Amino acid sequence: MSDNALHGGIDAGGTTFKCGLADASGALVATHRVPVTTPQETLATAAGWFIEQTGPGSLKSFGIASFGPIDVDPSSASYGTITGSAKPGWSGTNLRVHFAETLGLPVTLDTDVNGALLAEMSHGAARGCASAAYVTVGTGIGAGLYANGDFLGRPSHPEFGHIALRRRPGDEDFESVCPFHGDCLEGLASVRAIRARAGAPEDLPADHPVWDIVADYLAQAARALTLTFRPERIILGGGLMLTPHLIFRIRKSFDQQMGGYLEHAPSSELISTPGLGDNAGLIGAILLGQQGAQ
Ligand code: ZN
Repeated sequence: MSDNALHGGIDAGGTTFKCGLADASGALVATHRVPVTTPQETLATAAGWFIEQTGPGSLKSFGIASFGPIDVDPSSASYGTITGSAKPGWSGTNLRVHFAETLGLPVTLDTDVNGALLAEMSHGAARGCASAAYVTVGTGIGAGLYANGDFLGRPSHPEFGHIALRRRPGDEDFESVCPFHGDCLEGLASVRAIRARAGAPEDLPADHPVWDIVADYLAQAARALTLTFRPERIILGGGLMLTPHLIFRIRKSFDQQMGGYLEHAPSSELISTPGLGDNAGLIGAILLGQQGAQ
């Protein structure tokens, strides 16, 4: 392996760092998962794996698609630094500098959702689209948005998980799980919100009333995206979207909410699940690195 050019990347999630190496064609040749503990331990373990897997000079590019909030502005002095307090102990950690210094090459970094979006636009469900959104629905909710040839929200990144929603009738009394907002998307429709409402999502039957509530809120999110920047594709990914019936409920609710106002692609085309599944973030991280090295 050491004789071949390799491209590395990390999908840096809040609970797991997915590390991977691709060959020149973009095919993954090795992957490794590192559980997230302290920044020092996690970063050292991840970097150690890359050093072990690659010979001197074989690593040609490196990208990171990370959880946030994080500084994604290449012109900023703190580019690559986790800025918020969303994950205790990690605020102030500079992921980019750590890997650039340990691996000895420039590192390109963006958000996890921008990474997944890039991968889906290159090889997945938004291939051929000029504009698209990738929304991850998991413990938290976030989105990457792309139009006019670049990610939107530069020099920072969107915080779409915290947009305000209209409460579904009958759901007025649920207490949002977001500590900042009583009525935001993440506070009302994330996996944490579902756990607080009804228990573990994977244990809930398809006819549980919580699914219609969640579909309503995610459809409101898709509606807001459509009415503001008109993406050609809205990809809904993340752990919760593995629930097979949820996407159909969201499309149905979206059509009702739009009220026939706009001519748009059928919701079965407009609103999609990921084409690359669980690997979108990792493939996106590697692509970010390759683009940054060009
Ligand atoms: Zn919020």
